[in-house]
Amino acid sequence: MSTALELMRPNWAEIDLDAFDRNVDALRARLPEGARLCLVLKANAYGHGAVRLAQSLTPEKCAMIAVALLEEALELRDAGITLPVLVLGAMTPQQVPLAAERGIVIGVPSPEALEAAAAASKDRHVTVHLKLDSGMGRVGLLPADLEAAAKVIRSAPRLKVDAIYTHFANSPDPDDTYTQRQVARFDEMVAALRALGVDAPMHHLVNSGAYMRGIKPGDLMRIGIALYGAEPVEHRHDRLEPLLRWRTEVVRVKTLPAGAPVGYSLTWRGDRESRIATIAVGYADGYNRGLSSRGTVLVHGMRAPVVGRVSMDLVTIDVTDIPDVEVGDEVVLLGRQEDEEVSAEEIANLLGTISYEVLCAVGARVPRLYRTGGDPEVDSRFD
Ligand SMILES: *Cc1c(COP(=O)(O)O)cnc(C)c1O
Repeated sequence: MSTALELMRPNWAEIDLDAFDRNVDALRARLPEGARLCLVLKANAYGHGAVRLAQSLTPEKCAMIAVALLEEALELRDAGITLPVLVLGAMTPQQVPLAAERGIVIGVPSPEALEAAAAASKDRHVTVHLKLDSGMGRVGLLPADLEAAAKVIRSAPRLKVDAIYTHFANSPDPDDTYTQRQVARFDEMVAALRALGVDAPMHHLVNSGAYMRGIKPGDLMRIGIALYGAEPVEHRHDRLEPLLRWRTEVVRVKTLPAGAPVGYSLTWRGDRESRIATIAVGYADGYNRGLSSRGTVLVHGMRAPVVGRVSMDLVTIDVTDIPDVEVGDEVVLLGRQEDEEVSAEEIANLLGTISYEVLCAVGARVPRLYRTGGDPEVDSRFD
């Protein structure tokens, strides 16, 4: 173990890079003939660390990385990542030329972005993926935008439309019929563009929910949540291996008499003499305050309830039924310990949200440790 690790507050998220490789291989094995992976590493790879994950990818495994922001794309480029990077989100008009200059693929979400990309292509070749709104109602070109868009594209010879894509609004729901309507709408819009003289070598449609339902991806399969071993909707799908295990330690343990309050606002009192352990995590680390007296953590491979309010930097848990808990014992907040697991889906259900938000919420204050079978590496940002 590095000195840095010994000197750290004992709270970090372990990321299993071997499981990451296995998940990528499992996703590749599911690809139809000719399709390739576009791995979605936005929001710091859903909390897992985009740079480190990208470093373990090769062009053979992953055709393209997708992120939401230009800033996220630049972070990858600055770290020496040379794989093609697509920015899915809306950029400002000032960002578009910078993206073009840095060889970043622009996922054109609007007529304005198309104009900006065409303008930037006066000085250099600019590669775009054209986003069509087939029914999500958020970003993308609508049928009414296509004629003008085709005109812009036809008059910009150095603007290269490498792909046309769309995004599904309701794909994780197995009873859903809307996704098929979006596919049909997308096909119609692609045909309309073709009639206007615009086509692309690639088309892509599928996200994790659609992949799990076996919907045909086109040329690229855009996968986010499934890659991290979580589900878009709990218990509906086969999960791949979770990559992230967030653990901390007991920093104080004591016996309190029946009726003694625990934590801010005196919201919890034991109805018996209780062993209360305080653990090194709080809402400032992304441990949601909504888990006050609701969450569960793992100690000695057993489930222990969170009792009282989650504080900024500390959480209290009831370990009365878990023998011999001591200061320094490991506490797992998210992930496995021995035979027990607290999944992102379990926490999401308690909070009325989705696994995505639970993973993205693991805070920047929590160092990421990458395991590859040997020694863990601490993310260099935390050295
Ligand atoms: C985030 C995102 C994805 C990945 O979605 P998952 O459900 O995590 O697989 C795919 N496409 C677009 C456009 C996205 O914004």
